[in-house]
Amino acid sequence: MNEIRIKIKQRHANKYKSGYPLLFKEAITNLDSLKSEGSLLYFEDEKGSFLGRGYYGRQNKGYGWVLTQKPNEKIDQMFFEKKLAKALAKRASFYEDPNTTAFRLFNGEGDGIGGLTIDYFDGYLLFNWYSEGMYTFKDTIIEAIHSVSDFKGIYEKKRFKTGGKYIDDDDFVTGERGEFPLVVKENGVNFAVYLNEGAMVGVFLDQREVRQSIRDKYANGKRVLNTFSYTGAFSVFAAIGGAEKTTSVDLANRSYEKTIEQFSMNSLDYEAHDIIVQDVFDYYNYAVKKGLSFDLVILDPPSFARSKKRTFSAEKDYKHLLKQTIDITEKGGVIVASTNAAKVPMKKFKAFIDEAFNEKGQKYSILEEHSLPSDFQVVPQFPEGSYLKVLFIRTGDLSKNR
Ligand code: SAH
Repeated sequence: MNEIRIKIKQRHANKYKSGYPLLFKEAITNLDSLKSEGSLLYFEDEKGSFLGRGYYGRQNKGYGWVLTQKPNEKIDQMFFEKKLAKALAKRASFYEDPNTTAFRLFNGEGDGIGGLTIDYFDGYLLFNWYSEGMYTFKDTIIEAIHSVSDFKGIYEKKRFKTGGKYIDDDDFVTGERGEFPLVVKENGVNFAVYLNEGAMVGVFLDQREVRQSIRDKYANGKRVLNTFSYTGAFSVFAAIGGAEKTTSVDLANRSYEKTIEQFSMNSLDYEAHDIIVQDVFDYYNYAVKKGLSFDLVILDPPSFARSKKRTFSAEKDYKHLLKQTIDITEKGGVIVASTNAAKVPMKKFKAFIDEAFNEKGQKYSILEEHSLPSDFQVVPQFPEGSYLKVLFIRTGDLSKNR
């Protein structure tokens, strides 16, 4: 087999021996051996002892992934079939649940192949290829999925630059073309999904359990503010859970009609709710001026966003966002704080929350803690893969005057 030998620096060898899957730059002694993406790699330490085999693919996270620690396992169609079949078996309960028809079928390194995710949307599969290297296995992997599962059709997103662009005009790959919006269900709630209109399809599946909790335990009779609301998925769950009113705020123009659509998909009267296209920070200033307050506030900002007026980075600005949120949350109310920023692990996130409440002179208690749901498989050797952190926080009484 045509494999490139990659020598791993001795001090990183143990990490790979214990199953670390990501090939990172600092670990490689012979970087200039890496030439064309998709090349198969053979990893050994500086003393020549075998560490694993994998492929070369550049993505923001690194230089490629380890695919096997077995010296003789071939990386061929059979290999991919085995990984896919195993992942499918782990999602058996999702396949059987008629109330949830959208879930992650394959979660990259968590299912044994870094650089590839597959989401399931009511019979359609959406492949996300995270590097040109991963994409070179496309034909083999599509063959493999055909032989282990039934589906209506496949769409794809190339999450790497091709000709300077990330997005193609047509993401259809094979099978039957879908009719969009495709209506999928999550715990009995409808979502309109578009697999052929850019990278974001209408819903982030990793927040399923958070939405369920909001609907079932927190929304009834409450005034709910959903910030960075995108298509309003949290608002729809809150409304179905009996919220007195929801207010969705997002900067993007498209969010207005997309939110109306998600409400309508569930026969909810969107006119009984507020859908506001505005910068969240401007909205906060407005809310403070008008003396508005809410019982339940959902914070799910992107890790990093640049608007005309300002940039937001979770790492630098989350604490400030929390302090402003505390100002417009009723005492005894609940803040659902979420982040997927890699630079903000749970410990740091909790510290932001603690500092924000202390600086506001308020007590708080943590009611629930969520990470990724079970379909977003992670492996213990790669804790970085567990990117989602969500806390439900009960705001307390004023304890000090500040
Ligand atoms: N909470 C959403 C997903 C959020 S995606 C959900 O559960 O579906 C991030 C969203 O933040 C995008 O829709 C983007 O338009 C919006 N956004 C980014 N910066 C913003 C800002 N300063 N004010 C309001 N919205 C912003």
